[in-house]
Amino acid sequence: ARKPFISGNWKLNPQTKEEAVKLAADISATVTDDSPDSDVALFVPYVFIEAAMASAGDSLMIGAEGVCPEIKGAFTGAVSTAMLDSVGVKWALAGHSERRVIFGESDEYINGQCLKLIEQGMNVMLCIGESESEYNQDLAGAVCAVQLKKGLAGISKEDMSRVAIAYEPVWAIGTGKVATPEIAQSVHATCRSILADMYDQETADATRILYGGSVTPESVDDLMKQEDIDGALVGGASLDAEKFGRIINFQV
Ligand code: 13P
Repeated sequence: ARKPFISGNWKLNPQTKEEAVKLAADISATVTDDSPDSDVALFVPYVFIEAAMASAGDSLMIGAEGVCPEIKGAFTGAVSTAMLDSVGVKWALAGHSERRVIFGESDEYINGQCLKLIEQGMNVMLCIGESESEYNQDLAGAVCAVQLKKGLAGISKEDMSRVAIAYEPVWAIGTGKVATPEIAQSVHATCRSILADMYDQETADATRILYGGSVTPESVDDLMKQEDIDGALVGGASLDAEKFGRIINFQV
């Protein structure tokens, strides 16, 4: 059985260190002995990573929202895997649609991030997902196949134990239009069969595939009941400790 993975992505929020420290502490307090036995992580802005770690304690992991695929040198503004590793970061996002669309990150660049994180001994959550027009043309599976194949190029079967996938249909991100559990389940199952083709069934069965896109306390339980949905990557609702706490304490 795959261990559930509940994660939050703070994006360009909150605005101060004080708010970040309080939010991390309030969220960590929602993880109790009665909570589901999940991995719980928050992906936070680089500047808040160390303060959020100190404030969150052991009940949740603090990850980075991205990383530079270069190791060192003249790359102004960039942060390397070695830098993240040195402050204790274990997980980073790669391939979020906002990075792809707003910052122009290509599949090749995203693949570089994945490879560098794995080389550094870290873990990567690779985000994939189709746009609204691709969805309307019934291209969700095809888009996910390309993003999985290109994003994971060169990552071995053994290293897949340090990879999680987040399926985030772009039309559901920040829109309040959560994918129905049936739609999400169907794309997750497709992604798992793509992974089985790329690796083997055992690897596909062991890989966690999270759903992201307008997940709320109201929608999480039905999503988590689906066979191929192993967790959630939560944007807006991860900025509210009560809401995210309810998501962490999902009921199936
Ligand atoms: P929302 O939960 O705000 O839709 O954001 C989803 C997301 O992009 C998480 O990475």
